[in-house]
Amino acid sequence: MGFYLLMMGVTFTGLSQEKQLQYQSEYFVILVIDGPRYTETYGDTACTYIPNLCNTLMPQGTFFSNFRNNGPTFTVPGHTALMTGVYQRISNVGAGLPRNPSLFQYYIKERNALSSDAQIIASKGKLNVLSNTKNKQWKNKYRPYAYCGPNRNGLEYGPDRETVVKVKETLSGSEPPHLMLVNLLGVDVNGHGNNWKKYLDNIKYTDAYALEIWNAIQANPRLKDKTTLFITNDHGRHTEGHKNGFVNHGDGCDGCRHISLLVLGPDIPKNREISTEAEMIDIPSTIARMMHLGFPTGKGRFLSEIFTLKN
Ligand SMILES: [Zn+2]
Ligand SMILES: [Zn+2]
Repeated sequence: MGFYLLMMGVTFTGLSQEKQLQYQSEYFVILVIDGPRYTETYGDTACTYIPNLCNTLMPQGTFFSNFRNNGPTFTVPGHTALMTGVYQRISNVGAGLPRNPSLFQYYIKERNALSSDAQIIASKGKLNVLSNTKNKQWKNKYRPYAYCGPNRNGLEYGPDRETVVKVKETLSGSEPPHLMLVNLLGVDVNGHGNNWKKYLDNIKYTDAYALEIWNAIQANPRLKDKTTLFITNDHGRHTEGHKNGFVNHGDGCDGCRHISLLVLGPDIPKNREISTEAEMIDIPSTIARMMHLGFPTGKGRFLSEIFTLKN
């Protein structure tokens, strides 16, 4: 009898899980545009440098106008927060692994998926560290496929146009990955180069790449109407007049913390703006919930306001 009740308990657990909301999305892409400042993107109401994001993509999705990096505002820590759902201090030159397993590792483990079913494609080679963790239970296991840096060398910086070619090639295949993280570096690199014109030019380039990636998703019948795209950032840049302004980032100023999130997909209401605060660690928790995937180490929250009607 005790055994029978135990079995019933298991059955009920199964039933209650099935009662969770079902989403149409089966594929998830996180596009990280590295280091633009909000004032040059959506904060500019004329949308001078992001015409595609503002005029073509925003009307098709839900936009978070108060989206934050509340951890260290550098590239590797920012991407680590997006992947593991935890803010942590971690080497920004790729000298250390994230402390916690990533959402991608949970996915590969729980679904017994191939490495190629969860992919990291990055212009910055140092982001190779996102494919592993130093957590003893997870280290060197369930690792997502990583293509970081030029020719996958895991070290140097490669041009965004080549990264985008690789991304589009992957998205147009017959077995695209269910999870993908993309990093584009041009904005950040030219900001550090103290080249205002090239910094702005690269915001325009990434704006065009974002549309190309969305169009590549729509062009593949496997992905169309089954894919949610998150377009976000790893960090911003110093507020104008604070330290050296757009040239650098890394502290807690509003320019460094205020980033953006635009979400598009079959489950996502169109043409909506949400002004409640949300943050980057919420992205992996939201994807985990949409996939009905356990993600116990993630510290973010499910962005339920996306799916409810009132703002
Ligand atoms: Zn930087
Ligand atoms: Zn700052």
